[in-house]
Amino acid sequence: RSKEDGKDRWSYFTKDMKTASDEEARTEQELRLALRRDEFFLVFQPQVNIQTQQITGIEALVRWQHPTRGVLAPGAFLPVVDKTNLATPLGQVVLDKALAAARKWHDLQLDFGRIAVNLSSSHLTSGTLLDDFNSLMAKHKVAPEYITAEVLESVFLDNERSNNSEVLEELHNLGVHIELDDFGTGYASLSHVADLPINGLKIDKSFTEQILSDRKKEIVVSHLINLARSLNINIVCEGVETEQQLDRLQMMGNFAVQGYLIARPMPFEAMSDWLTSTQSDLAFNLT
Ligand code: C2E
Ligand code: MG
Ligand code: MG
Ligand code: MG
Repeated sequence: RSKEDGKDRWSYFTKDMKTASDEEARTEQELRLALRRDEFFLVFQPQVNIQTQQITGIEALVRWQHPTRGVLAPGAFLPVVDKTNLATPLGQVVLDKALAAARKWHDLQLDFGRIAVNLSSSHLTSGTLLDDFNSLMAKHKVAPEYITAEVLESVFLDNERSNNSEVLEELHNLGVHIELDDFGTGYASLSHVADLPINGLKIDKSFTEQILSDRKKEIVVSHLINLARSLNINIVCEGVETEQQLDRLQMMGNFAVQGYLIARPMPFEAMSDWLTSTQSDLAFNLT
């Protein structure tokens, strides 16, 4: 009887495995088609200085306008992208669209600080990243000091087999800002960070979420902000959702915040309107 159960369980297991890989294979095919049909688009989320509310940057976040499933967030397709050779072509599309947006804001004379793009580890390792930046910066006439590259700390970990650190160093030398995304969720320590070619840290939203309820988390974030300042590293605090969180963070220093409280990620037109209204408010206040 137990043998029977075991056999059953095994057949269920293989069936599930097959279904998962079938679905992945289908998604991969759809992704290839999506790239050809230009179904990816960007939404934009502002980062503002916590003391002055002035814009310091805008993060570009990818979305997929799926032909039948509606708009998909990255969590629904990036895991499959990362298993294929599509990460580099997708990264190129994202950079192209992000720099096109930056060019339009330049032309509209809207201050956006820097446009932030998320880089995948495969794109970094691909060998085309620097060429992609150089050619797309030339195409859109956007200078490197208007760009931030967000990377996860894991891109530095595989250093034995990849030259990701050197690629990032070169990107940094071009004048592109480098920020470590989701800081606090992995193993990077601040002393480690001080040796990396980075300009900033993004404190993960799992910390922001807990600063009001967990005194120890609050102390960690507060010290992190002070240490970063001493090391001349910028901070962006992610996932700010409430006034209470903002108030608490405001007491910790001078840095940037990003989150639903300031604005949700939005399409290009809405982002432009947001920039226009916040910047005309400012102009109005000054006159
Ligand atoms: P991330 O880079 O850490 O981006 C922040 C994520 O938090 C975004 O989710 C954003 O919509 C969400 N978020 C922003 N403010 C709040 C808030 O106040 N509360 C909460 N709960 N969430 C907030 P999204 O757009 O689903 O992106 C998820 C992740 O996918 C990103 O995390 C990034 O790692 C990756 N990603 C997004 N776009 C790209 C891309 O173009 N290329 C690559 N390689 N990765 C991307
Ligand atoms: Mg990011
Ligand atoms: Mg993050
Ligand atoms: Mg993240």
